[in-house]
Amino acid sequence: MWPTIVNYKSLKVLILCLIVTIPLQSSEKQSFSIVIHGGAGWFSNLSDDEVQAIKDGLSNAIDVGFTALQSNQTSLDAVEKAIVVLENNDLFNAGKGSVYTSEEKQEMDASIMYGLNNQAGAVASVTNVKNPISLARHVMEKTKHVMFAGKGAERLALEAGIELVDPEYFYSEEKLRRLRDLKKEEKKMGTVGVVAIDVYGNMAAGTSTGGMTNKLPGRIGDAPIIGAGTWVENKVCGVSGTGHGEFFIRFNVAKEICDRVKYKNLSISEAANQVVDELQAIEADGGVIVLDGRGRHAFSFNTPAMARAFKSSDGKEFVEIYK
Ligand code: ASP
Repeated sequence: MWPTIVNYKSLKVLILCLIVTIPLQSSEKQSFSIVIHGGAGWFSNLSDDEVQAIKDGLSNAIDVGFTALQSNQTSLDAVEKAIVVLENNDLFNAGKGSVYTSEEKQEMDASIMYGLNNQAGAVASVTNVKNPISLARHVMEKTKHVMFAGKGAERLALEAGIELVDPEYFYSEEKLRRLRDLKKEEKKMGTVGVVAIDVYGNMAAGTSTGGMTNKLPGRIGDAPIIGAGTWVENKVCGVSGTGHGEFFIRFNVAKEICDRVKYKNLSISEAANQVVDELQAIEADGGVIVLDGRGRHAFSFNTPAMARAFKSSDGKEFVEIYK
């Protein structure tokens, strides 16, 4: 309400307030960005069409996440939405495209973390959940726990109305062949992961996987382990990893990278390269995607390739597979 009589002094105060708040409001919306991976590995003997299909899959996912950020949705929404797209694409080893265990079943792991409040959720060894990342988010937001596995996780999904599918949904002749041929030197990886920062400056990270081909039933990798495969801390860094999960767990890779940024003042690319080089020194294959607290990205991998993409509000974007 405007006062009926405005004296000179209060008018001056009002004008001053306007001058101070207008620029603040327009600079409130900070820049945002999203980085994704579709697994590190060899990606060898692929035809041009196959390479293109993987790139298209990455582009579709990053576009969905980016559009969410652009419309002021949270980084958490962007991460979940982009991962759902990748989980529904059988070219990636997560959700529909999950690889087989030694007993020819699919067991999926996923986790998600939110930098705003340091919340995290994870699921492991689920066999009939269409989008494990959405169940991980449900664990984070709707339960007082952080991680659910197997039957308990599947029951939670059922109760929450999260889409369940017949395990047949994940059937893939090609991946079964790969398993059966295996016991050979199969080195395929294709886990998916996303890290994003939104217009509010909040960061989120998520990772989803079918694990490693020929893993023993019940084996759980790094993807659902907070700190190993997924980590985020607002203003510091966010990481999603892919690679030989046992090593990522033992070296707490995702958090280790962010800790080096936080405590050693390294840039994200220095920290990521250091840790990935250390993994290489012990013959552990893998890679990571990283964002810093200002939305700048870094990639590091010690395999010949890592499917990856980046997109930011300042117009930078790319999709790549090989070094
Ligand atoms: N890290 C995943 C696991 O060990 C596999 C991968 O990234 O390809 O389950």
